[in-house]
Amino acid sequence: MSTAATAPPAAAIVKLDPASARTKWITAFAMMTLPGLGTAAAAWFLWQGLYTTTDLVLFAVMYFVHMAGITVGFHRYLAHKAFKTSRFFEGALMIAGSMGGQGPIMYWVTTHRRHHRFSDREGDPHSPNLAGDGPVARLRGLWYAHMPWMLSDESSSWSFWAPDVLRDRRLFFYHRTYQLWMAAGLVLPALIAFAVERTPMALLTGFVFGGLARMFLANQAAWCVGSLSHMIGGRPFDNGDRSANNWPVAVFTFGEGLQNNHHAFPGSYRHAVRRWEPDLSGWLLTALGRTRVVWDLRQPDAKTIAERRTRGPRAAAAQPDRGAAAGSEGSRTAA
Ligand SMILES: [Zn+2]
Ligand SMILES: [Zn+2]
Repeated sequence: MSTAATAPPAAAIVKLDPASARTKWITAFAMMTLPGLGTAAAAWFLWQGLYTTTDLVLFAVMYFVHMAGITVGFHRYLAHKAFKTSRFFEGALMIAGSMGGQGPIMYWVTTHRRHHRFSDREGDPHSPNLAGDGPVARLRGLWYAHMPWMLSDESSSWSFWAPDVLRDRRLFFYHRTYQLWMAAGLVLPALIAFAVERTPMALLTGFVFGGLARMFLANQAAWCVGSLSHMIGGRPFDNGDRSANNWPVAVFTFGEGLQNNHHAFPGSYRHAVRRWEPDLSGWLLTALGRTRVVWDLRQPDAKTIAERRTRGPRAAAAQPDRGAAAGSEGSRTAA
């Protein structure tokens, strides 16, 4: 394995004090489970026929807003700086991502950059491959990487992993106001459903379909990126980790399931390297680039991709694309 066979630096991972660890545990547990109860309610409403077309449209639209906010906003823009955009569109992306309920931006970015640096090794916050060998250990690892990793009593250092976000006051505003946007993502579909249907029941079903069930199902799909897409799927590139291209996950996560491609070219705005690979967020960004909503979209050229296919992770470490990937900003400042 390449560069990275070293243990994580002590400054990169912070052990929380008992009170903070408890708060983190309770918050994460609530975000994992409460939307699940809403999903059960949505299933019951569907079974009973207690829903309207508005509820289904709200579910679909809010799923799109949630997933685009996380994948285009938090991931490709914030964590990897794969493109540039206006402050207005940046704000829209940060608000949409916050509606996903995956935690405020500093938590998301620091966790994700750490994941890239230590992918499937000690220090990776959510690898499914560190629980040991054998079918039971592999299943335990898969489950841990899907959700329980969020309950851990450690945190990723803000100043180490994301000093760039930390000193950007306009970006940090979206971190401080996270709870407001997350709550807005639950309340807004309820209010829209009420405005359209004009019944008290619509307030409830809008909240359940566009809010809770959307949040639960979109996050279940998103968490498959860290679990299934680091275990099962194709591996056209040798990244020195277990990242894999998992197509079903990629379809539901707008391209994020193409983890093997993404770990090979983390700074690229596209996760697809072949035209037919499912990457809705990449296609969306291409369209937004043509209309100049976003610009300076980064991607490797065909020659770089071809070389990377044959030369493995050492070639990747030498690429500027890899250098601009997650975590490098943190290491430069910390050095
Ligand atoms: Zn990954
Ligand atoms: Zn990434």
